[in-house]
Amino acid sequence: MTTLNLLVIVYGSCSRDPENDERFGAEQRCAEITLNPIIPASAKTLEQKQKWVEGFLQRIGRDMKHTRNWRCEFCKKHTRETVWMNSSWIHLTPPKINSYVHSIRDADKGPCYEQLRGFEAQVALMTGFPPSGPPLPKTQKSYPMSASCIVCNNEASESRKNLKQCGRCELTRYCSIECQREDWKRHKECCKAVKEVKWVWN
Ligand SMILES: [Zn+2]
Ligand SMILES: [Zn+2]
Ligand SMILES: [Zn+2]
Repeated sequence: MTTLNLLVIVYGSCSRDPENDERFGAEQRCAEITLNPIIPASAKTLEQKQKWVEGFLQRIGRDMKHTRNWRCEFCKKHTRETVWMNSSWIHLTPPKINSYVHSIRDADKGPCYEQLRGFEAQVALMTGFPPSGPPLPKTQKSYPMSASCIVCNNEASESRKNLKQCGRCELTRYCSIECQREDWKRHKECCKAVKEVKWVWN
């Protein structure tokens, strides 16, 4: 049984942010989320551990997305997708993973796509890690907004305002107690692993 030190940083923007590169500075809007999930004892080798971590990251992907009314860092529209870049020190004791999550409107085309690919290449140069991350779920044509309830994906502006964060982890957002109850079986793995949440947001 091993505890993983996982830091997930979700980046986004807001409508007031400047149009130039200033919005990518040290104070860029983000949520820094520390999670300490337990890697099960059945994962013995490094490869098995890595595989478990990849599965965990995919399972918490939607929780990390539906945390805020994020706007795209590049075009400032309300976001529908997240792009993950991971740095892994899985061989250390305790093992450590940093995940950099960018909230964007569209990962396949347009200005968001162009800028993201350029940014990924820069990060790869700096860290030596190739651009990587869990594959995006390409099963739906349109993705629910980050701003919507994680369960029913209700995008009505009124409900968007009324969304409540899970009281325990203060991250995942729901429109109602019913939606939260329905999701608990799935969400609890993520919820219980969350140790600290820091918002760089004004
Ligand atoms: Zn965009
Ligand atoms: Zn709902
Ligand atoms: Zn929670």
